[in-house]
Amino acid sequence: MNIKNYINGEFSPPLLDDWIDNYNPTSGKVYGQIPNSTKEDVEKAYTAAKSAFPSWSSTSLEKRSQILSKIAQLINKKLPELARAETKDNGKPLQLAKAIDIPRAAANFQFFANAITQFTSDAHESIGLDAMNYTLRQPLGVVGCISPWNLPLYLFTWKIAPAIASGNCVIAKPSEITPITAYLLGEICTEAGLPKGVLNIVHGLGTTAGQAIVEHPGVKAISFTGGTETGAHIARIVAPMFKKLSLELGGKNPNIIFADCDYEEMLSTTVQSSFSNQGQICLCGSRIFVEESIYDKFKKDFVTAVSKLKVGNPFDDTTTIGALVSKPHLEKVMSYIENVSEYGGKILFGGNRVSVNNFEDGYYLQPTIIEVNDNQCKLNQEEIFGPIVTIMPFNTEEEVLDMANNVSYGLSATLWTNDLKRTMRISKNIHTGMIWVNTWLLRDLRTPFGGTKNSGVGREGGFEGLRFFTEPKNICIKY
Ligand code: NDP
Repeated sequence: MNIKNYINGEFSPPLLDDWIDNYNPTSGKVYGQIPNSTKEDVEKAYTAAKSAFPSWSSTSLEKRSQILSKIAQLINKKLPELARAETKDNGKPLQLAKAIDIPRAAANFQFFANAITQFTSDAHESIGLDAMNYTLRQPLGVVGCISPWNLPLYLFTWKIAPAIASGNCVIAKPSEITPITAYLLGEICTEAGLPKGVLNIVHGLGTTAGQAIVEHPGVKAISFTGGTETGAHIARIVAPMFKKLSLELGGKNPNIIFADCDYEEMLSTTVQSSFSNQGQICLCGSRIFVEESIYDKFKKDFVTAVSKLKVGNPFDDTTTIGALVSKPHLEKVMSYIENVSEYGGKILFGGNRVSVNNFEDGYYLQPTIIEVNDNQCKLNQEEIFGPIVTIMPFNTEEEVLDMANNVSYGLSATLWTNDLKRTMRISKNIHTGMIWVNTWLLRDLRTPFGGTKNSGVGREGGFEGLRFFTEPKNICIKY
C-alpha cells in the first residue's frame, strides 16, 4: 500500500518525490512505500494550516464539536478496516486493535467533541478596586503533533483531537514505522467535513520531517510522545524558541504486589500489564516486585499463566502475542536477553524467537520473565519496551518504595493490596504521574495523563489537554 501526505485536504506526493519502504512486521516483507518528506513538505503543510486558522479558530464550538463527533462515528464505522490496517502495519493482535486501538481513537474524538463544549474560562471580580478580570482561552495557531509506533492511531488522535477541538490547526507526523492508519484518518477527516488545512499529515522520518515541524518558527507548540532521548533533543531545540512543549516519554513502571491482594485478579491482570501489545505500551509494568511471603507461589503461577499465551499470526483470533514492530526493535529487545547473565538476570520463561507458520520472517518473540536480585541492574533501570518483565522479592513497604522510586523514569505504577492505609501512603510517596491500585490501565479520559522525571513534562487528557493547546489571556476592566 503506497500512501501520500495529507495537506490542505488533499493527498499529495512528497515534493522531492523521495520514498521510504514500509515493512509488514508480521511477515518481515516490504508492503508499501511512504513519503520521505522534507522541510519543504512541512512548509507546504504550514502554509495550509496558517491560512485555515482564522476561519477555524472562529468556527463555533457547536460546529467544531459536530465535526469531531462525525470523525468519531466514521472511525467506528470503519473499525474492521482500520483494525486490519493497524495489525498489518504494527504487528499487534487483530483482536487488540479491534477492542482497544481503534475504539479508543474514536473515543478520543468523541471525548474532545464533548469536552470543548464544557471548557470554560474564569472571571474574577476585584472587589474594592472597581475592576473586573476575565480570562480568554485562545487557540495558539499552528501546532505540531508527533507520535510513536506502539499505539499508532490511538496516540495520534489523542493529540490531534484536543488540538483541533480548541481551534488550532495542526501539522502532524505519525511514526514512519506505522503510518497507515494516520493516512486513512485523512480520508475520514475529509468525509467528516473537516475544513481544508485544519489537519495536515506529513509522513517521513523523525530526523527530517519531524525535526522540521519542531524547528519551524511559526509552529507555536509541540506535543510529542516517544522516547526520552528524542524528547530531550526536541526540548533543546524548542526551549530558546519559547514554544509550549508537552512530552510524554518512556517508562520503567513498577508493579508492586503485596500478599494481601486479591491474588487471582492480580495474577491475570499482571499477565496483561506485562505483555499486552508485546509489552510495547509505555504503561506496561516492567518491574514486578512481589512480597517475599508469596514470592515462590507467584513465580510458579506467573510462569504457568505466561506459558499459556499464544505467540502467533496476529490475524488469528486466538493469538495473544503478535509480532514486535520492526527488526531493529526486535534486535534491541533481544540484546537484553543475550546479555541476561552479564546484566544479573536469570530467565525463568521465554527468551527465544518464535517461528510462525507462513510468517517465518516476522519479528516474533516469546514473552520473557527474568528474575533479578538487584534493582540497580540494567534490566531494571533501562526501558526495554518489549515482552520482557523482571521479577524480584521484597520484605518491607519501605524497601519496595525505595526500589520503585530508584529509577530515572516516573510514568506510572501499579499497586496490589487491600490495605487502605498502605495504599494511601504508597500512592502519596511514589514518584510517578499515575498510579493504578488493584487494576491496570483503567482509563477515564478526564484524568491528567503523563509522567515525572525522565518520563516527561506536562499532562494530556481532559481539560489539561485543552489548556495545553490554548493560551490564557487576562483582561482587566476598570469601571
Ligand atoms: P521515538 O522517540 O523514536 O519516536 C517518536 C516519534 O518522534 C516518531 O514519530 C519519530 O519519527 C519522531 N522523531 C524522531 N526523532 C525526531 C526528531 N529529531 N524530531 C522530531 N521528531 C522525531 O520513539 P518510538 O517511536 O521508538 O516510540 C517508543 C517510545 O515512546 C518508548 O520510549 C515509549 O516509552 C514512548 N512512549 C511514551 C508514551 C507516554 O505516553 N509517555 C506512550 C507511548 C510510547 P520516526 O520514528 O518516524 O523516525
